[in-house]
Amino acid sequence: MQFNKNQDNFALIDDSNICKNISDNIFVDIDDNGVIRNDWQGDKLKNLELTGSYERLGDKKKAYQCCDCGTYMEFSYDPITNKRKLRVANFCKLRLCPMCIKRRQKKIYHQMSKIMNELEKDYAFLFLTLTQKNVTGDELKDEISRLTKGWDRLAKRRPFKNAVKGWFRALEITHNLEKKSSNYDTYHPHFHVVLVVNKSYFKKKDYIKHEEWRQMWQECMELDYLPQVNIKRFKTSGEKELKKSVSEAVKYTVKDNDVLIPDNQELQDKTVAILTKAIARRRLVAFGGVFKEVHKKLNLDDVEDGDLVNTDSDDLREDVGYYREIVMWNFGYSNYYINEIKLPEEEQS
Ligand SMILES: [Zn+2]
Repeated sequence: MQFNKNQDNFALIDDSNICKNISDNIFVDIDDNGVIRNDWQGDKLKNLELTGSYERLGDKKKAYQCCDCGTYMEFSYDPITNKRKLRVANFCKLRLCPMCIKRRQKKIYHQMSKIMNELEKDYAFLFLTLTQKNVTGDELKDEISRLTKGWDRLAKRRPFKNAVKGWFRALEITHNLEKKSSNYDTYHPHFHVVLVVNKSYFKKKDYIKHEEWRQMWQECMELDYLPQVNIKRFKTSGEKELKKSVSEAVKYTVKDNDVLIPDNQELQDKTVAILTKAIARRRLVAFGGVFKEVHKKLNLDDVEDGDLVNTDSDDLREDVGYYREIVMWNFGYSNYYINEIKLPEEEQS
């Protein structure tokens, strides 16, 4: 089934009879070892869970955008290397969409790796997590504003300005769903930050101790308690370490299991409403100082509003002809199928 764009009410169309051969042409993105490279079906099913919430909340526009997300995709496929690259897709770019969140995460990861590779020769990196106490859903929106203000104050502090040459900041909001917890159904908005410092930072007077970070964050947030702050050196020795560190830092705002609550639809809808309102028109990911400069120099586009199709630059080889796979979502089968494969010759003519 799918939403019919031309009708005011969301009429559901049964499209399972459109293509008789769907079951023979199910699309699965697996590598040479049979391991799923990208669980497109899983992501789309989660996206439809979110669609359900927007529909029940009466937000028809978002329900339609969300439902339509990723229903059409085109891949370049190299059968020799079994590599695949996404070329075209109709992503919705809604901030809570599980499909789009995954793409954004990939994009941020890729951009960060590129920028850090560029900076690594001259600088060292720190990983800073800034937190405060949990808040209720009603308080969330204002608390995020407070956090942003707190960050602005922190970045203007003398010790910060002396030591920090650049930063990357990402807002993450976790949702407590532990039924037995006294914090059940509260939200925890916090910042994950990567700081760029001179290599001499650890030996110089500009070094900021853990306790100082906590104190500064307390003052900037105007808290009556000492908040939890975590600061550690970013491991960049070797590609593997760097990859691990970058993926730890690039959390994008919300995880789908903090929003999608299969056994409690009412709570899910409430969560979707709260989070949608709380993060609307906000900058969730930001770059500053040398991070911003390199981002600009490398001509990287905006991580939030930019293209979600090309999330990396690992291109397929130029010297081989690749196939073009047209992949579509079928609502009746709840799965992706290959609608058409264009051979390299057809592609060129
Ligand atoms: Zn989407």
